[in-house]
Amino acid sequence: MELRRLKLTGFKSFVEPTELRIEIGLTGIVGPNGCGKSNLLEAIRWVMGESSPKSMRGGGMDDVIFAGTATRPARDFAEVSLLAVQPPGTVLPSIDLGPEGELEVVRRIERGAGSAYRANGRDVRAKDVSLIFADAATGPHSPALVSQGKIAAVIAARPAERRAMLEEAAGIAGLHVRRKDAEQKLRASAANLARLDDILAEMD
Ligand code: ATP
Repeated sequence: MELRRLKLTGFKSFVEPTELRIEIGLTGIVGPNGCGKSNLLEAIRWVMGESSPKSMRGGGMDDVIFAGTATRPARDFAEVSLLAVQPPGTVLPSIDLGPEGELEVVRRIERGAGSAYRANGRDVRAKDVSLIFADAATGPHSPALVSQGKIAAVIAARPAERRAMLEEAAGIAGLHVRRKDAEQKLRASAANLARLDDILAEMD
């Protein structure tokens, strides 16, 4: 998956609508301390479905919304849109890609009301977004998103954590979610069958 464009409004320090085009090749983001470089990486993680306020350096999910300054009032919502392109011929099981393999995911959060997602113009659930990115071999915890301190964390990771990173990179992380869903359905069917047996026994 190639990331092509990031759009932010009201997200952390990016109070004004901001668009960042990501060109093919290496993209470097430079600027003085505190100008918002890490906030950009967090915006990518967030739109991919990050659900832990801690990994967004906040206490609650609403903390991603512009909190105001001495001269500007706080905002009531934040919105991030990520446009990515899949290699030609790629099929993702849970989303119809655009003609050029485009995938645009938008996440919006309203203060006190939680997040809503859209993928290629369709309303989707957080779980759907996680699956889309997992199938595309990326996601909020992708080792390709290297934030400060991440290299040390990879080196110190336990084998099970490293395995999770490799599974994510290989695009098979979504299979775990699907297996869990299938197991739940299987358990519900087994319970229904047992109940049916009881009813049949009572009728005999
Ligand atoms: P460094 O080089 O020091 O790591 P950086 O360029 O990565 O800095 P960030 O950590 O991305 O900078 O941005 C920090 C800035 O974002 C701070 O000025 C902080 O006040 C601002 N900020 C973070 N969350 C919010 C928010 N919800 N509302 C307004 N500003 C915020």
